[in-house]
Amino acid sequence: MNCDYTGTHMAATKGTRAKNKKTKQRTRRQADATNWTERTHRGLRILQVPELAKLAWLVHGFSTRQGGASQLDGQRVLNLGFTEWDARENVKENRARLQAAVGAQDLKLVSLLQFHSDAILHFESAPTEPSRADASVTKTAGLLLAVQTADCVPILLVDPKNRAVAAVHAGWRGTLARIVEKAIGRMQMQFGSQAADLLAAIGPAIGGCCYEVGTEVAAAFSGQFANAAEFFDELRTGDEPNPLQWLNMMPPGHQPPPKKVLLDLRKANRSQLEAAGVPAANIFVSDLCTGCRRDLLFSYRKEGAQSGRMMAVIGIRTEEKKSAGR
Ligand SMILES: [Zn+2]
Repeated sequence: MNCDYTGTHMAATKGTRAKNKKTKQRTRRQADATNWTERTHRGLRILQVPELAKLAWLVHGFSTRQGGASQLDGQRVLNLGFTEWDARENVKENRARLQAAVGAQDLKLVSLLQFHSDAILHFESAPTEPSRADASVTKTAGLLLAVQTADCVPILLVDPKNRAVAAVHAGWRGTLARIVEKAIGRMQMQFGSQAADLLAAIGPAIGGCCYEVGTEVAAAFSGQFANAAEFFDELRTGDEPNPLQWLNMMPPGHQPPPKKVLLDLRKANRSQLEAAGVPAANIFVSDLCTGCRRDLLFSYRKEGAQSGRMMAVIGIRTEEKKSAGR
């Protein structure tokens, strides 16, 4: 196996002193619990959370753009979705490479036909055809749950006590429909999971820096979440006081709403996780923005139909890895 760890993304993007030093896993965990790590394997770069990676019974990972069998703009890319511009066999090859890179060759990939819903499926065996849903849960070993994204938020949930997992796709519609909160509810129902025990990884997604939405989206959120204003920012040039006062339904003529606002989907989903009872310390959020980091990630917003799809995967090993600690 040609695997090695090459430091953390957050450190790299923030330009801190941690310059891709090869360190032992133990050292990296102590350094900063919120740090993500990067695993490279045959040209692929897979993002992982150390707190999940240390669980010997678990496999997980968030794919990035680089490497793979697909060609896009003269680049070799790891497109994991059946898009119009790419050949089916390339996507299948890319999926096999992703599974190898996360050490899940012998697991069965369970992908979904996503439609921005709050539909959640419980799998006890691998389906013959992908089903329509935006989240999946399992406690069956040998299944690799997957969600595809290119801007939307991928979220992986782990219940270490009951050894159960979930994969969630949350765009603005899914977030508004509280899909991640409902996935926790489903884990409680199916597996007896307690929110206080869960670990959550919120992967790369379009950031509050890049995600412009119409004010109707902000209005819809403010009708659902008491703290909705925390997720939004106005597109402003000046430094007006009280920027989100229009969300409070002020009478017309006062504080006219801006045409566009910026939405931070990861913040909204973190808030849902915390509201559901997941401890803040158990929530690991990537700070990578798909819009800003098109060198590393796919962004449907920025690239349109010529964009690829990334995958977040999670599963329970059929045999525990001996080298991974607990
Ligand atoms: Zn951005």
